[in-house]
Amino acid sequence: MNYKLPQLSYEYDALEPQMDAETLKIHHLKHHAKYLENFNNLIKVYSLEHKGIKEIFQEVSHYPVALRNNGGGFYNHSLFWEVLTPGGSELNDANLKDGITKYFGTPDNFKHEFTEVALNHFGSGWAWLIQRENGELLIYSTPNQDNSLMDSTPINGEPLLCLDLWEHAYYLKYQNNRKDYINAFWNLVNWDHVAELFNKNNINI
Ligand code: MN
Repeated sequence: MNYKLPQLSYEYDALEPQMDAETLKIHHLKHHAKYLENFNNLIKVYSLEHKGIKEIFQEVSHYPVALRNNGGGFYNHSLFWEVLTPGGSELNDANLKDGITKYFGTPDNFKHEFTEVALNHFGSGWAWLIQRENGELLIYSTPNQDNSLMDSTPINGEPLLCLDLWEHAYYLKYQNNRKDYINAFWNLVNWDHVAELFNKNNINI
């Protein structure tokens, strides 16, 4: 399969002021597009055209690390754009609220724990909310472009929410101030989409 760069469902300036248009445009059209190009090339090199992306991630440790880096780079950014929406949205979904309450106490506490993980992650990577097969909701971070679907990642699960922690995601506006970038992220989260992913999993919490 030849993957394509997903269109954003909003304009490049629509996430202002939390995420500036220049950063978003470069991030999408340069960074994301480059991961995609490399990933499509590697799919050809390793004759993986007949496999779905999740299937590729499940055996990614058997291939050179470039497949992991670029496949993850393509997938993670595609999800990232979808969990953002101009102005953010409220966490209204009852099922997701129940899950978050069960595993993190309150939505505010969830945000606090996610923020801490994102803030304390050393170097480039991603912060995640995932749902494990046993239903458990878990916050953690991964290095580079790794994600929770990869056999090279110690704890697996379905990604529900992600935050790009690479400096390319925030440096133009926030410079070294990752904390302000993370705090701004909470005003962009598309909870409706996170809830959709959670409900699609259909795993009992
Ligand atoms: Mn990025």
